[in-house]
Amino acid sequence: MLEKTFSVGPFQCNCRLLVCPKTGDGVLVDSGDEPEKILREIKASEAQLGRSIQIRYLLHTHGHLDHIGGTRGVREGLPLQAPRIALHPGDEELYQNLQMQGNLFGMKFDAPLAVDHYLQDEEIIRVGELKFSVVHTPGHSPGSVCLRLHEDSGLKVKETLLSGDTLFRKSVGRTDLWGANQDQMFSSIRKRILVLDDDTRVCPGHGPDTSIGLEKRENPFLV
Ligand SMILES: [Zn+2]
Ligand SMILES: [Zn+2]
Repeated sequence: MLEKTFSVGPFQCNCRLLVCPKTGDGVLVDSGDEPEKILREIKASEAQLGRSIQIRYLLHTHGHLDHIGGTRGVREGLPLQAPRIALHPGDEELYQNLQMQGNLFGMKFDAPLAVDHYLQDEEIIRVGELKFSVVHTPGHSPGSVCLRLHEDSGLKVKETLLSGDTLFRKSVGRTDLWGANQDQMFSSIRKRILVLDDDTRVCPGHGPDTSIGLEKRENPFLV
């Protein structure tokens, strides 16, 4: 798998490009800002892979502005590929209110494009040979999801969890924003995230990667 992470915008959201090297099909997760930079990264990755990349989905872990603010620009920058904009329906209201979210931070955005695909809990999304499953983890926002990525390379299966703003390295998401619920978030973390294998790599929406085992041992909000 070709994997690139680049932080975008003033909130330094981790935008991730994940591409199946065999087919060139890929996804972008949380195109939160700086669409021109994201489009440049896709081009650079095509040069690196030596083939064209088709972005199939613009996946979103949730509907906060720092995760959705660049989506329109990226979608419009890939007119022929027409990647599907995907979000959990629980965050539709946040998504549609991008401009209002921006007003709170003095940031201007164009109106968001329509959502093409509503993510459902336990849904499987296949892109080339990449396989993602959706884990609905409400709490940080009503429609927060984590995305599990299974990489099966013969004998070894590698598991990665894109945890959005629900779980960070040695921290957890904030719950003082619209629609958030702290009890629900901790319940999501315990019932849906910490049950994964300890060696599952965790890639949060901000900051460095971690693992389930490390968070079980060292996250001050969870031990
Ligand atoms: Zn957030
Ligand atoms: Zn965020």
